[in-house]
Amino acid sequence: MKQVISVRDLEEMLRNGKDVRVLPPDALVTPSARDFLRELEGPGSHRTAALEVRASVASKPVTSKSAKGEIEAYFNSPAVHELKLQLCEIGRRLWQREYVDGNGGNIAIRVGEDIALCTPTLVSKGFMKPVDMCLVDLEGNQLAGAKKRTSEILMHLQIMKRQPRAVATVHCHPPYSTGFAVAGVQPPTCMIPEYEVFSSVAIAPYRTPGTPEMGKLVADLVDKHNTILMANHGVVAWSHNNVEDAYFKMEILEAYCRTVLVATQLGKPVNTMTPAQLQDLLKIKQSLGIPDPRFGLKECELCDNDEWRPSVTCAVSNAEGSQAQAVVNPDAEAEALVQAITDQIMLAQESRSGNHE
Ligand SMILES: [Zn+2]
Repeated sequence: MKQVISVRDLEEMLRNGKDVRVLPPDALVTPSARDFLRELEGPGSHRTAALEVRASVASKPVTSKSAKGEIEAYFNSPAVHELKLQLCEIGRRLWQREYVDGNGGNIAIRVGEDIALCTPTLVSKGFMKPVDMCLVDLEGNQLAGAKKRTSEILMHLQIMKRQPRAVATVHCHPPYSTGFAVAGVQPPTCMIPEYEVFSSVAIAPYRTPGTPEMGKLVADLVDKHNTILMANHGVVAWSHNNVEDAYFKMEILEAYCRTVLVATQLGKPVNTMTPAQLQDLLKIKQSLGIPDPRFGLKECELCDNDEWRPSVTCAVSNAEGSQAQAVVNPDAEAEALVQAITDQIMLAQESRSGNHE
């Protein structure tokens, strides 16, 4: 029977210092695991610094349980220093683009099984230095760093715990996106390709910033969304690539919200792409390993902006409606995958019942 390899299996192999390029020849690799491999190996790909750090320390991974000296050495290593510089650089961009105000905003990068590097509290994101950065465990306890970690770290950590693919998170208060979050308006869809391919946005209800409850409400959404509007507060995004990619989600959302506002003030109904055109973009999105709750939906359900402005729904001709069927048909590969998983479950059950006898 064929072995099924998922993203989780690949991450486990990386952590244990194994070469993920050497897989059993007849192994069945899940589509997301294949995306993961492509990301690691693709020419010119954005191989994440965080993953490199994780792989480089794989022979002796540092965890929150490591000796204090080991944690300090890791925190002061050249690899982690490089990530501290990235945090400073992304902070500077957030400030320059006016996505943060006062000491607002925070950034985190996962640097091990249960540890993350993050920005300090009470420091403007535009003027941070590497020496300001903090190391925490996934419960938010500070392990290293002279300054105190951000008060909003729990939300970042809850995202990382719930979404194992999240290697970096960025939180800030960009005015246009935050305007949508304050009004409780989900940005409409089917207007700009960039937004459709790279963003999957949802709104989390308001809770006091920094509380575990706030973090939980955001974490509840990160399975199918990479950008969360936090009601009456701001935005948080995660990336499976690197911290710059998490920051890009902010630029894309903010530019989009601004453009939508302009378009709706021009005195003319806005044009949208057709569901079939959106379907093309969703295929690209899926191939990039970016989540979206619309994968597998029928075409007539893809550009429904009814919540944005009542009655703004997509019109689909009968011809398009019949094509939509093809989209939901599982392909042969998926069927093979389901069969292999079923076989494994059956086998496990058989061996369990065998043990009882
Ligand atoms: Zn905030």
